[in-house]
Amino acid sequence: MKFSEFDYQRPNLEEVKNGFLLNIEALKEATTAKAALEAVKAIQTIQKSLETQGNIASIRNSIDTRDAFYEEEMAFWDENTPVIEDWQNDYYKAVLASDFKVQLSEHLSEPFIKMAENSLKVFDAKIIPLLQTENKLSTEYSKLLASAQIDYKGEVYNLAGLAAFQQSTDREERKTVTTLISNYMSENLETLDRIYDDLVKTRHQIALELGFKDFVEVGYLRMNRLDYDRKDVEVYREEVLNYVVPLANDIFKRQANRIGISDMKHYDLPLEYEDGNATPIGTPEEILQAGVKMYHELSTETGEFIDFMVEKNLLDLVTKPGKSGGGYCTYIPDYKAPYIFSNFNGTSGDVDVLTHEAGHAFQVYQSRWVETPEVIWPTYESCEIHSMSMEFIAWPWMELFFGDQTPKYKYSHLASSVTFLPYGVLVDHFQHEVYENPNMTPVERRQTWRELEKQYNPWKDYDGDDYLENGGFWLRQGHIFGSPFYYIDYTLAQVCAFQFWKRTQVDHDDTAWQDYLEICQLGGTQSFLEIVETAHLKSPFGKGNLEAVIASIRDYLDSVSDADLQTK
Ligand SMILES: [Zn+2]
Repeated sequence: MKFSEFDYQRPNLEEVKNGFLLNIEALKEATTAKAALEAVKAIQTIQKSLETQGNIASIRNSIDTRDAFYEEEMAFWDENTPVIEDWQNDYYKAVLASDFKVQLSEHLSEPFIKMAENSLKVFDAKIIPLLQTENKLSTEYSKLLASAQIDYKGEVYNLAGLAAFQQSTDREERKTVTTLISNYMSENLETLDRIYDDLVKTRHQIALELGFKDFVEVGYLRMNRLDYDRKDVEVYREEVLNYVVPLANDIFKRQANRIGISDMKHYDLPLEYEDGNATPIGTPEEILQAGVKMYHELSTETGEFIDFMVEKNLLDLVTKPGKSGGGYCTYIPDYKAPYIFSNFNGTSGDVDVLTHEAGHAFQVYQSRWVETPEVIWPTYESCEIHSMSMEFIAWPWMELFFGDQTPKYKYSHLASSVTFLPYGVLVDHFQHEVYENPNMTPVERRQTWRELEKQYNPWKDYDGDDYLENGGFWLRQGHIFGSPFYYIDYTLAQVCAFQFWKRTQVDHDDTAWQDYLEICQLGGTQSFLEIVETAHLKSPFGKGNLEAVIASIRDYLDSVSDADLQTK
């Protein structure tokens, strides 16, 4: 059955509610483990049906935002999702209070139990008004940034549109455009400061009302950090400062040489090559066919997976009128079908869709056996291991996509992954400072950022840009406003993906693929550190663990000559 034939029906909420209530009651009154498990399974059937319908509506809405039917359906889902979550919370409470919790956890998995406990720890009816304030402030921030209208060369641009010129080969243009963005942020600084200050105070209040010392603890619980804490993260930061920052610094020095600029300024950093970045060859259809060939050659499992995706039309890759922006991978439980959505735009990002998003899709496809919807996917830092590792596992096939620009693509892929790490950790470190010191003024926060930025990103020379020199860079980083403590997840997964890179591309370790496949099949039935162990990877939190893989990356980058990085 093709995606277009997947059936969509708006659920009858009265029936859904009764289904939850009836089975929660049955769970509470169960006198045998078998009866308790039956009630849980009945609720899971309801959950999966809701997720199926909600995801189908959301996918079809994103494919054509002009379709009035699905627009109305999305309004239904937006309005009712919190209501459904409330029933779901009652279900979690009943599981945790059940006499058969131990037996149930065999079916539900240990991470499920911990996540259910977390979700109850960070919620209390008395904080609802504070949560509403928090949401309102986040929305206000997104709207403010999305509404930017900046004049440049007689055209009006939003921030994303303008940012495209930051890669211009004309240095003056890069500088001008970067200054325009700083000016926009600077003009809105008072509002941005007010929004963030209110967010910090609201979140601190939430933490206090829930009985926590500060919001850092709430942030960790919300992100479902199941098996590591602040102390582990502190060790990791040191590792990044000791081993990654020096390599990143050298990568930028080499870039300066390559593009012929001796005094690299912040607006020069986005320009990796004077003759532009590697771009994929061929039409979108040809790129997809190269992906199909790649996955057939990689393994039986990936071959079967990509055929499933193509036959059922579970990929919507190309930009079309009315289609919403960005890209994602999601899952439709009742059809056991992953779905990949993207907007091909002729950059190397198109290939990333077929490696990164397909990595997510392959994981969830391999986890179809998992009956508990909450643990079909693992927590975020683990999810990104599958996607980021697939980007590297796919390296031997990159010539299908990039031809003679392959060395350039690989070099950039690896180098930019290295230079991203310190920034990602900086974003996280900054948020610890912010929420541990909720009474800092906006100016003190910016000073704190700038001091940390000098440690993690010492290559940034702001060339007299006062806004950035005074520590304003982070105000454009949406996660800091909307998803506190999310950012480090990307970096933790990256460190794991580097190890898959080393094992597959440097060591030619035959067991690496088997390990990768195994963690895809686990879904979220293990926690992050358990997944790391199952995959025979080293924990990013262990002292010295980053050193070896960073040394290999340095060797690889050194082995590529700048002549190889020219477009022939
Ligand atoms: Zn991802």
